[in-house]
Amino acid sequence: MSNETYDVIVIGAGPGGAVSAALLAKQGVKTLLLDKNDRAGGKALTLSSKGFSYELWPVSGGPSHSSRWEELIKELELDVELLTPEGAILTLYRNPSGEYVPYQAPGPIPPTPEEAEGLGRFFNDMMSLSPQEIDALDEVTCHEFVSRYQVPQAFYSSLAMQSNIVFVVPIDLLAASEMVKTIRDMQSGGAGCYFKGGYGKISEGCAKAVERYGSEVRLRTRVERIAIEEGQVRGVVTDKGTFHAPIVISNAGIQPTVLKLVGEEQFDKGYVNYVKDLVPSLGIMGIRYFLSKPVLDHPMYLTFSDDNYFNVERATRAKAGQLPEDALVFITVPSLYDPSLAPAGKQCALVGTLCPPGADMENPQIFWDKLEQTVAKIWPELPKYIEHKEYYGTADVSALTREHVLPGQGGECIGLGQIVGQCGRHKPSAKAPLQGLFYVGCDAGGYGCGTHHGVDSGFRVAHMVLQYHQMHQGAF
Ligand SMILES: Cc1cc2nc3c(=O)[nH]c(=O)nc-3n(C[C@H](O)[C@H](O)[C@H](O)COP(=O)(O)OP(=O)(O)OC[C@H]3O[C@@H](n4cnc5c(N)ncnc54)[C@H](O)[C@@H]3O)c2cc1C
Repeated sequence: MSNETYDVIVIGAGPGGAVSAALLAKQGVKTLLLDKNDRAGGKALTLSSKGFSYELWPVSGGPSHSSRWEELIKELELDVELLTPEGAILTLYRNPSGEYVPYQAPGPIPPTPEEAEGLGRFFNDMMSLSPQEIDALDEVTCHEFVSRYQVPQAFYSSLAMQSNIVFVVPIDLLAASEMVKTIRDMQSGGAGCYFKGGYGKISEGCAKAVERYGSEVRLRTRVERIAIEEGQVRGVVTDKGTFHAPIVISNAGIQPTVLKLVGEEQFDKGYVNYVKDLVPSLGIMGIRYFLSKPVLDHPMYLTFSDDNYFNVERATRAKAGQLPEDALVFITVPSLYDPSLAPAGKQCALVGTLCPPGADMENPQIFWDKLEQTVAKIWPELPKYIEHKEYYGTADVSALTREHVLPGQGGECIGLGQIVGQCGRHKPSAKAPLQGLFYVGCDAGGYGCGTHHGVDSGFRVAHMVLQYHQMHQGAF
């Protein structure tokens, strides 16, 4: 058993954990970053196999510019290159005749004068809301917000698709405050970014920075328990030994942290009930296609129709096995961002669609079948060049990252759902009600889209923990 002592231990090298650990290490805080996987990156890690480098599922980021990525690369002097190709995203909409056509707001059918006016007011209001007015939208859903304006159906569907892909929640649960802040960031900074060498390079770069600043990283180390004595964090017990610290930051998810790593007996019942009640995002599941020939020519695709975005009703129907005519499709092609990520003349396409979040999903095959049918319909050439394919589902997402501690949880795409009651002023506090315990990542401390959300939390939680560390170190 190890007996090493640190100022801070960070459990998990996902975007949130890796960023917070590196920023603390830079401040001279003796930090230990642990992850059960053999590389940093969490749900957005990059693998290499048979000449391909790829994420396990489609991953692309936003905002691209004026982003936390740029701030991070500068702050930590990371040797990581952000790729922001022009026109990276092709969005296809199934028009009323059933054909998939490139989508641009307001959609293929010219808007009526009332719709044009409603759309103008929607954008104008969204871009000019004050911070206080945005806060007031914490309790308003995106559906309720957009329903204040008369907008074309295709535009509504596109906003619903973005609710599903950017936040991975139904449009009628997404908090409008979260939507407004994130879409504003993407309107000004663009979207569809990636990193040279693979998306995981940003988290790997942070893990390297932890070591460069004199702190420590241990991969392939699973935390089994967070040690608590008299309501105070003492360290962690792992499969590789025990490590001591008065502060632990968990990137393992608020529910697994409270219910498994700490144990509910350490918290008061009200807090345990609150944590159990938190709702995860939806999941994304799909297929990795390894193609003998480049078939796709955009780094990222999104396809949607008026009948396949998820609202609560459709998500509930999908859970019961009733799927729309076509799946909503999300694809990334890593080698179209960075050609070194595939052998010459070949292509890897990472394809995903929406699904319920639980790691214990009963009927994954119907989702894979629907996705394959839709892909073959939109890209009839693609199936001809499949050399090899791999299916992934919510159980794989959970095994890689967040443990399954409650029914219907574990395989979620983001973390907690960015829904009314869980965002903005209602977001769980990054400081747990135990001395020395903090959360980082998409469950607490930040806002935005997926990985960018995790990084935003990493910045904010590192700042919070640095202050806590300084206050408890000496005179106080
Ligand atoms: C299919 C899919 C597609 C996605 N597409 C996108 C996209 O296009 N764009 C985007 O921005 N985001 C995307 N995301 C979401 C994004 O990956 C997540 O929101 C983000 O990675 C969450 O970051 P995080 O810091 O909260 O932690 P996570 O990425 O969840 O990482 C948590 C880390 O903690 C570690 N850990 C957990 N428990 C333990 C333990 N007991 N001991 C040691 N280590 C532990 C895990 O191994 C993991 O490395 C996608 C996710 C999925 C699943």
